[in-house]
Amino acid sequence: MPSYVITEKCDGCKGGDKTACMYICPNDLMVLDPNAMKAYNQEPNQCWECFSCVKICPTQAIEVRGYSDFVPLGSSVMPMLGTEDVMWTCKFRNGLVKRFKFPIRTTAEGAANAYTDLKGKDLDSELLSTEEADGYTIKVPNA
Ligand code: SF4
Ligand code: SF4
Repeated sequence: MPSYVITEKCDGCKGGDKTACMYICPNDLMVLDPNAMKAYNQEPNQCWECFSCVKICPTQAIEVRGYSDFVPLGSSVMPMLGTEDVMWTCKFRNGLVKRFKFPIRTTAEGAANAYTDLKGKDLDSELLSTEEADGYTIKVPNA
């Protein structure tokens, strides 16, 4: 199910030029109603359910109902983004709550250089840039 905004929690990112959810959505779906100062998903059927807006929202005002295989009706999944990790809180239908913490990348905004590790690579090759000639070994840079 696509993202939706819990209006009671949304503060419109306090009236900034561009709200956090507008900034992060890869599909430019989130917009701000300047009168109500509430954001909303303007085209839900285009939502990839990528959770990016859910993770970045500073007030936890956005939810995405995942597919029923991992988020059955009556349960929820909510991330809390920190500076070095993201904590996922999963509430199950029977009331059980579980939390999972994962590290996040800490590259400073604007500092990522996707091409640094590709120096000397043949970008016209049929192989993936991280794939060795034997076709099986995948090397992930900086892993
Ligand atoms: S990021 Fe959250 S608080 Fe900011 S406008 Fe979007 S929904 Fe509202
Ligand atoms: S879940 Fe992803 S695609 Fe959907 S509105 Fe949020 S950021 Fe955009």
